[in-house]
Amino acid sequence: MKIGAGVLAFILSIGLFPESEITETPSQDVAVTAEESTADTVNTEQNRAAELAAKEAEKKAAEEAEREAAEAAEAERKAQEEAAVREAERKAQEEAAAKEAERKAQEEAAAKEAERKAQEEAAAKEAERKAQEEATSAEQFQINQPSPGEVAQERSVQPVMNAGGGGGDASNFDTYNNVEQQQTSEAYVLNTNPSSMKIHYPGCRYVPKISPENYATSNETLSTLESRGYSRCGVCMK
Ligand SMILES: [Zn+2]
Repeated sequence: MKIGAGVLAFILSIGLFPESEITETPSQDVAVTAEESTADTVNTEQNRAAELAAKEAEKKAAEEAEREAAEAAEAERKAQEEAAVREAERKAQEEAAAKEAERKAQEEAAAKEAERKAQEEAAAKEAERKAQEEATSAEQFQINQPSPGEVAQERSVQPVMNAGGGGGDASNFDTYNNVEQQQTSEAYVLNTNPSSMKIHYPGCRYVPKISPENYATSNETLSTLESRGYSRCGVCMK
């Protein structure tokens, strides 16, 4: 408190002055002059003090303003910091929400994929079931059809009727009617009876009449068969 000390010195100087006035005043004029002089001095001192006080007040006001400004700046800084913290928190929440949304989308995609696979598997099982059903009905159909073995048995039974025959085509024509002999995937049907040695197309009307023991099929060429002693049927190969 530099100024405070100055003010105290000023007050003391004022207090001391009247004492010297009382002891040293020789006349009224001198007293008046001294009084005036004292008043001037007091005025000057008072002015100086007021000036100092004003300066001090000004300085204090400036200091106060500076302090307030600093406080305001600090408050603003803190507010900005807090705002930044809130913004960071908001962004973190946004990111978490985005991740959660992405996770859910992936979960949904996985669920859809699983559903699609389950449907595919169900469709595959259904297809397999149908295939088995068809296989079963085909098997039943085959059971109802005569097997090749059964057909062969029929053939072996029939020649008994031919027991007394000469074995030639002429007798065969009246004896046999094995139409299944026309069912061959090979190109030609042969009558291997040495008295016949004919080449037929499987569809020839004479093919069912061939005796089973003389029946053969062939994929060889006509010229090869002819070189082996066969001749073309006069009905189907005319
Ligand atoms: Zn023929």
